[in-house]
Amino acid sequence: MKRKAIFFFAVILAAVLPLSSCEYVLPDFGSFFRADSSEERFTISSERVCERGSYGLGTNIKLSGDIDVYVFFMDDDESSWSVYETNAFMKDSVSVALEFIKDKGAEWGISINFTVHEYSTAQDDGFEMRYDGKVNKDLRVDGSTKDVLEQAARCIGYASADEMHENIVKNNGGREAIYLTAIEKDGISYTRNQTGGNGRYTEHCVLFTEKLLFLNSVMIPKPDTVAHEIFHLFGAEDLYKPSARERAASEICPNDIMLLDTRNIKKLDVCEYTAYTVGWTEEVPMECYIEEWRHD
Ligand SMILES: [Zn+2]
Repeated sequence: MKRKAIFFFAVILAAVLPLSSCEYVLPDFGSFFRADSSEERFTISSERVCERGSYGLGTNIKLSGDIDVYVFFMDDDESSWSVYETNAFMKDSVSVALEFIKDKGAEWGISINFTVHEYSTAQDDGFEMRYDGKVNKDLRVDGSTKDVLEQAARCIGYASADEMHENIVKNNGGREAIYLTAIEKDGISYTRNQTGGNGRYTEHCVLFTEKLLFLNSVMIPKPDTVAHEIFHLFGAEDLYKPSARERAASEICPNDIMLLDTRNIKKLDVCEYTAYTVGWTEEVPMECYIEEWRHD
């Protein structure tokens, strides 16, 4: 398993998205390739090799404006959150991740305001946030646990995640709502995002702690993992796979949030392709014409 793949794993939920055909104009690569002899390294395609197929699907459409963030600290048969741990996660991970997204959005001319709502058993605010069973922590062994958000929704009084989302959106004036479920054990975080098909899937992230990060002596998910997974909700794609794409991305956008695994989020960026996949720009980036960029 490659080092980055250990942390990030996108879940394919639906069948292949039917790609819409459209007229295209091959962009001028002059400015990009002038700096060096990159023509030698990339194979330029006369047609687009990727179509931001996850953009605009599911419940998360626009990564802009006022957005509600719901954080569900789920205990399960193997783990539970303490007040100290939930505070550390909110302060050192979620807040840092949201600030990163807000700052990078501003660089692209996009204004974002997050309002965070938090539910946990530990905070003793009347909710028992408990997953009935065991949430799988290693996707490579057990696969993803598919009903974490369903159970979180039931814990706060809804019949299902869909019902919860419908109610939240009805009451918040139609704003975007992001759902982060957090599990207090070391594992591989992932996002259940809609990648094709019809209907509307209630998208959400399942975040595990990471042994690599000991902030305030507790284990929490790294902020760049949280930011990476939130970008997936809105259509962003992994740049670290397949290997040809990773090699190209390492040259074109080496600091992109969807490529790198780093402990310092301050060094990360949101480059043209990722900005395009989440709708921060409508300009088709030149990556879409590089053969090596083709997604698996
Ligand atoms: Zn990913």
